[in-house]
Amino acid sequence: MNQQTMRTWTEIRLDNLEHNYHVLRSCAPQSKFLGVVKANAYGHGAEEVAHKLQQLGADYLAVACLNEATELRQSGITMPILILGATPAEFAPQVVEYDLTQAVFTTQLAQALSKAAAAQGKRAKIHVKLDTGMSRLGILAHDPAQAAQDVDALCALEGLEAEGIFTHFANADGDEGYTMEQFTRFLDTLDVLKNTYGRTFQLRHCAASAAVLNFPCTHLDMVRPGIALYGYLPDPSCQGLDAGELWPVMTLKTRVAAVRELPGDTPVSYGCTQHMPASGGRVAVLPVGYADGLHRVLSGQGTVLVGGQERPIVGRVCMDMCMVALQEEDQVQPGDEVELFGAHHSLEDMAQLAGTIPYELLCAVSPRVPRLYQGA
Ligand SMILES: *Cc1c(COP(=O)(O)O)cnc(C)c1O
Repeated sequence: MNQQTMRTWTEIRLDNLEHNYHVLRSCAPQSKFLGVVKANAYGHGAEEVAHKLQQLGADYLAVACLNEATELRQSGITMPILILGATPAEFAPQVVEYDLTQAVFTTQLAQALSKAAAAQGKRAKIHVKLDTGMSRLGILAHDPAQAAQDVDALCALEGLEAEGIFTHFANADGDEGYTMEQFTRFLDTLDVLKNTYGRTFQLRHCAASAAVLNFPCTHLDMVRPGIALYGYLPDPSCQGLDAGELWPVMTLKTRVAAVRELPGDTPVSYGCTQHMPASGGRVAVLPVGYADGLHRVLSGQGTVLVGGQERPIVGRVCMDMCMVALQEEDQVQPGDEVELFGAHHSLEDMAQLAGTIPYELLCAVSPRVPRLYQGA
């Protein structure tokens, strides 16, 4: 795509992803590596990111749902893919057909996979999901003896290959006590499975980015980072790495559509919520709005980099445009590049102003915004 014709685009540095991959692998050198590429790889493009990770030698990928997994298979991804979310039992045949690994926590889905495996003359690979305290999906593991019994019953079904078992921490970037409580439930359940049922698992995993960085004792057989791969700490408080050691992969850019000289006290944008100073001044109109992923809550709050300088968004963010206030000395022309976040302008700061986290702003970059890849 010709960059000149684009109003708003992202630059995706796959070489920075590679750097982050190596940094994270060195944080967990004894463990296998699963790269989380759900939600279009946090907005970065699942296909491109998955191919990069496959080429780098990652061991596993994870996605949220069946569709995300089959799209990756159709794009030529041959490495193992774990579906983290609940797949409706009627789609079990596709899970088996595409050689996907399914997170399992209900008898119903386990039976459907078992049946699909028999019908296709294959084995269905599963990772059992335990709920040790996140209260999302999983077999409740507050009582390890009960949990082990439930897990064993699932795994005993014909045609299933119970390759893995995993859990997810609710507060690994905030609360060591609670994380260790969850980890203990996980290990206790594994103990009962081994001692009472003689059942062991090749891949035990529980560490997403926060635990990869904060709690090396939880790395086990495989780690499961997402956000850190894309260059961000899950929380500023995370230990183990300094913020600068991970490099942002995505930079969101736009191009000045117009520079407008406006009279004093003129209101700017919908709702006339903000006005020009009494002496008047200039605004740059940017062709980026909430339909591109620039959250409307940043109206009158956020800043962007114009000519390398931080300039404030004035008035409401519109669907396809927003306005930023220029200073007298700014020599800005239509067509000049503007950085919204990424390489030089902090996504963390923007997320904080928007009352959210970097994850959400990355995922929010809409399909309308072209992704340009560098360092493939
Ligand atoms: C999203 C997700 C991850 C990755 O989390 P990050 O905080 O982005 O590292 C890991 N495991 C599960 C189950 C997830 O849903």
